[in-house]
Amino acid sequence: ASNKHKPHIAIFPSPGMGHLIPLAEFAKQLVFSHHFSVTFIVPNFGFPIKSQKSFLDSLPEPITVVYLPPPVISNDLSGSLNPETLVTTGMTRCVPGLRDSLKALTESTRLVALVVDAVGTDAFDLTEELGILRYVFAPFCAMSLSLCFHLSKLDETGIKDYKDLPDPVEIPGCIPIRRTALPGVIKDLNSEFYKLFLYHTKRYYLADGIIINSLIDLEPGAFKVLMEDGSGKPPFYPIGPLLQTGSTTDDGTLCLTWLDEQPRGSVLFVSFGSSGTISQEQLTELALGLEMSEQKFIWVVRIPAKNAANGVYYNAQSNKEEDPFDFLPNGFMERTRARGLGLLVKSWAPQVQILSHGSTGGFISHCGWNSTIESLTHGVPLIAWPLYAEQEMITLMLTQDLKVAFTPKKNENGVVGREEIAKCVRDLIVGEEGKLLRKKTTELKDAAAMATSEHGSSTKSLAQLIQIFENHNVLPLKK
Ligand code: UDP
Repeated sequence: ASNKHKPHIAIFPSPGMGHLIPLAEFAKQLVFSHHFSVTFIVPNFGFPIKSQKSFLDSLPEPITVVYLPPPVISNDLSGSLNPETLVTTGMTRCVPGLRDSLKALTESTRLVALVVDAVGTDAFDLTEELGILRYVFAPFCAMSLSLCFHLSKLDETGIKDYKDLPDPVEIPGCIPIRRTALPGVIKDLNSEFYKLFLYHTKRYYLADGIIINSLIDLEPGAFKVLMEDGSGKPPFYPIGPLLQTGSTTDDGTLCLTWLDEQPRGSVLFVSFGSSGTISQEQLTELALGLEMSEQKFIWVVRIPAKNAANGVYYNAQSNKEEDPFDFLPNGFMERTRARGLGLLVKSWAPQVQILSHGSTGGFISHCGWNSTIESLTHGVPLIAWPLYAEQEMITLMLTQDLKVAFTPKKNENGVVGREEIAKCVRDLIVGEEGKLLRKKTTELKDAAAMATSEHGSSTKSLAQLIQIFENHNVLPLKK
């Protein structure tokens, strides 16, 4: 009977650690702070993504995980499509399986809401039938969300070509964005993925609300416009920062004990998110640049991208067995180890714990939104090294608006050379510029701590959402 009493929330995530991590933290808050129960209903794309499955399987017990049955991807979808189109189309093909899972949940629990990830809005059709609420969870920043709404407006004015977009694009409440810094998906307005993206974006209006992993004080301009009365947009619930909590691996423990021995603010953390990779040439320059800087570092080394000129690569399917360290320059590991300069980690490090450690003084990041918010909320300034998606836009926000980062200059081949890297690293860790950036990030750190404190803005947003979930009376099936 107690199962029927407390609200149950179903979550329909899209793949990618950058999506699963904040969704899992949201689920943990519902379960541990509010005694809800939660089920992740995971789409199936016909290929296993090992790291994501082990992440989901390790979630604490009150969170249940259901895997939808294969195959949702038939031959017409395999191979030829780019990964984003594959995922977006695959999500839609999972909707019938999702219906069965949701129906089963309505029988065993008090299911009150479905939360879908950015491209899962086709699942909204089911919620009407089941009498439950529907939410979008945006694992990105308010500026990106504003861009979504802005593009759907521009589309209505008849813009059909990238070249017809204004330059810079002026998103209400945000800094102007030069066209070349827009996410890759927008470079071809006639592509299949752009059409799908726009379709989902327009369906955001149908949501009962949009939950977002940001905080008002980080993006006050964007939130002011988004949350304006009378805009016709659904309510927004900024509940960030959602920071990864939980266990760590042996490699992870090693990072933290090594950090314990380093001076305060002396270590640079280098990582390109869960799937970002750089080219072999860039990897070599980065290694030699770090060495030349003579600053301490922890570097999450990944196998370089083979086909990308300068490392724009979405690596969702990779289960490769190669050793990332084999791609480092000769003698680099031995030299840096002998000087006690750096710690190299294969593929994955406990990022949040590293950023929260007092010895960490800077971050070379690809500026995925999670990495960005994790860095800022721990007061760590950045060297912004955008690779794909909305990362160039975030870089603009960090360098021009918030002034908490700078970007290294690429040479004529699109590669950042070793001297430039060494200079940027020194500027950040021991230079005057680094001091200024650090001062700004400390202010943001304080703002983030405030937002999640007892009476803070993110705490209030979450409380409103909880109240709505608790008060929702499920009206049984319409058919
Ligand atoms: N992450 C981590 N260890 C790593 C690499 C990534 O814990 O070695 C986490 C990171 O803390 C963040 C997420 O993975 O929460 C990456 O999300 P982000 O939005 O920064 O980038 P994406 O992977 O989506 O491009």
